[in-house]
Amino acid sequence: MGVDANIDELAKQLEEGLNLKGQQSDTGATADTVPEKSAASPRSDSSHHDDAVVPADVSDVESEYSVPDSVSSSSSSSTDTASIGAAELPFPLVVHKPLLQSGKTSLFGNASSTLDSIARMIRSGSVKKVIVMAGAGISTSAGIPDFRSPGMGLYANLREYKLPYPEAIFTIDYFRKNPKPFYVLAKELYPGQFVPTLSHFFVSMLAKKGLLLRHYTQNIDCLERAAGVGSDLIVEAHGSFHEAHCISDRCRKEYAQDWVKEQILSDTIPRCSACKSLVKPDITFFGEGLPSRFFELLEEDFDACDLLIVMGTSLQVQPFASLTNRVRDSVPRLLINRERVGEAKMRGPGFDFDGRLDRKALHRDALVLGDCDEACLRFSECLGWTVELVKLRQKFMARHQPDRASFYAEDMATKRSS
Ligand SMILES: [Zn+2]
Repeated sequence: MGVDANIDELAKQLEEGLNLKGQQSDTGATADTVPEKSAASPRSDSSHHDDAVVPADVSDVESEYSVPDSVSSSSSSSTDTASIGAAELPFPLVVHKPLLQSGKTSLFGNASSTLDSIARMIRSGSVKKVIVMAGAGISTSAGIPDFRSPGMGLYANLREYKLPYPEAIFTIDYFRKNPKPFYVLAKELYPGQFVPTLSHFFVSMLAKKGLLLRHYTQNIDCLERAAGVGSDLIVEAHGSFHEAHCISDRCRKEYAQDWVKEQILSDTIPRCSACKSLVKPDITFFGEGLPSRFFELLEEDFDACDLLIVMGTSLQVQPFASLTNRVRDSVPRLLINRERVGEAKMRGPGFDFDGRLDRKALHRDALVLGDCDEACLRFSECLGWTVELVKLRQKFMARHQPDRASFYAEDMATKRSS
């Protein structure tokens, strides 16, 4: 909740700043002379960033955004971090500055920031078909743990079920014998109890602007739907709670989400009325194939894609992870994540953030290290979308979750006073 509370605070600060100074404009100065400001906006909300201005002669190796020492005493000139409220965040944002091999051509030109450069591509209309690939990292600030990882608090509730190994809960053979642990977990995770994050609303903004070709998610939480992304634009690569079926291969009867939800929330194991087999939400378990929609769409989508954004995933699970290599060689790829992942070893597929590997290949991989929500907020600034993004979230809160909104406010207040 901590990060989410921080984001709420950031959003509030932005909103206040924006209200004071009016709507921001989409036209902007170039970033070449003032690297710490976004190219997208001559900044109605710049008051929150003025602290972060670094002198032009500071040589930044890792990042072009800096916080002053008074804010981040541990920062050094080579690992400066920053942007919005960096001091508040456990994972400050670092926009990686590639150290290109000499002679290498970069898609990002001489732009001081790859993020600004990508924003410029979008604003100029040279990018129109964006694919987002997302993982658990975009949902953690909603309070949804990366539950496929062992050691999460969530598993403590399952101790009494003595799982042979944590992943057993998502293994189809184990589920057939002992479905109870899954339904206990499903109750905890059931969609409708969580608020989409700024990352989800950012994807929703891409959709609203007609830029989203498809959102491929590994998450089963349906939060992109909740954020307003149309289901035609979403591929839930590992399934979701949105649909449910009888698990018997001979039956496969479909069940309405509402009925399944009712069963799960009342601690009843849902059973098929036709054959008495278990009824399971269409979440892809280990030992099950991915949804056919994934395979039906991926070829055409990735051929057409002109910008790939990968967010909050460690790119460990196949075949999802290998999708990054399906876009054309000239397509920019942006990774937003807490760690560097998915990098190419020597030659071969994978990211090449520093343009070190193939001399002839165009440098087209950008890296933003840090929290997905903060990165999306920063990206929105570059695009001049901040007001709309924040409003999208506020609208959701007002409509769906008034209680939760106040809960977050209390959470934040408690945090601040302690
Ligand atoms: Zn059945």
